[in-house]
Amino acid sequence: MKTVDNYDFTSKRAIVRVDFNVPLDENFKITDTTRIDAAIPTIEKILSSGGSVILMSHLGRPKGPSAKLSLKHILPYLSEKLGKDVKFADDCIGQSAVDLSAALKPGDVMLLENLRFYEEEEGKPRLPETVTDEEKKEAKARVKESQKEFTKKLAGLADCYVNDAFGTAHRAHASTALIAKYFPNDKMFGYLMRDEVAAIKKVLEDNKRPFTAVLGGAKVSSKIEIINHLLSKVDNLVIGGGMMFTFIKAQGGNIGGSLVEPEFVALAQNILQGAKELGVNILIPVDAIAANAFADDAEKKLCKSNEIPDGWMGLDIGPESVEMITKVLNESKTILWNGPMGVFELCSFQKGTKDVALAVAAATANGAFSLVGGGDSVAAINKFKLADKVSYVSTGGGAMLESIEGKELPGVKAILED
Ligand code: AMP
Repeated sequence: MKTVDNYDFTSKRAIVRVDFNVPLDENFKITDTTRIDAAIPTIEKILSSGGSVILMSHLGRPKGPSAKLSLKHILPYLSEKLGKDVKFADDCIGQSAVDLSAALKPGDVMLLENLRFYEEEEGKPRLPETVTDEEKKEAKARVKESQKEFTKKLAGLADCYVNDAFGTAHRAHASTALIAKYFPNDKMFGYLMRDEVAAIKKVLEDNKRPFTAVLGGAKVSSKIEIINHLLSKVDNLVIGGGMMFTFIKAQGGNIGGSLVEPEFVALAQNILQGAKELGVNILIPVDAIAANAFADDAEKKLCKSNEIPDGWMGLDIGPESVEMITKVLNESKTILWNGPMGVFELCSFQKGTKDVALAVAAATANGAFSLVGGGDSVAAINKFKLADKVSYVSTGGGAMLESIEGKELPGVKAILED
């Protein structure tokens, strides 16, 4: 893999795409520094190898330049964290960026203003609702053209390119993918990207069997591509969360008022049939904690998952299901977990998700490789303080989901291709 570990940074200026899209409070104080902290090892590696660093990121979804979404708000924290004064270019492709980057000395760090102040970063025109289709088409072509110039100017600031922003790797933006072509022999992954790419590869390509995927969350509709991609790869597929009820309906069960997507019942039947043909063991929870309302203080009762009375909804999986899933996880050598087993945000319905998280942790302690990623399962594993008990927790929501759908991420491809 092309990483910062196998590149000579001596006297080189590295432009590094990081994900500094951190939450800020009303006084512009960072309320969660995780993303900045995660980028520090890559930055320090370049600096300690004799290079200088130009950091670039987006922050929020600006519609143009905005004082509120300026990256200058993170300068004090970044400077403190790196133990040096970080310089700031208040326009990512302006004269200040050119002058500051030209003056960089080994060990120096500078930060560019929010890339998304320019529509060229995403390559999408920002248009009022009222424009005609024809005007839209013209504007798109115009931005695509000016995006080339924008990308070239960013690339012109540096001698090499490092991508360490996995969270935006599924987007073909100027700073995440297009810029790489200006550095055919001088482009590489930072440590975060390296670890994400390696974890996905370990699970989807170089896996040890048995391989079990645990899928949950609200909707089947958002997981179809994942299921289709995983069916040809896994030995066991657990389907929990709200989406399990569409499958139970497909098997002719009574699901009461549980979450269901009627238009996907036929597709669930096809998936079950496909799994049978491929010899994949599909595990659908056999019991559920049902409630008479979607609330923490609702009345609860344990039901068979295919015998939920009218007026009740399944909001968590029951103990028999947990036992069944735990047994399979215990025997697994590779585990992918995406999506909670129930409404884990409410204490009354978190047990199933917590017990499955504990089972993933126990299997990991037994030598399995476990990857937790894509949305709410990450929130769940953090809530239960088990993140350090699994092999890898992905930092990228959409990027992880697209990876497990089998899509090639533009940000990854741009580094890997010649
Ligand atoms: P997703 O973003 O599709 O992974 O869905 C995550 C959401 O699914 C979480 O907010 C959970 O509360 C919700 N969820 C999980 N199980 C259920 C269920 N049985 N009924 C309703 N919502 C659920």
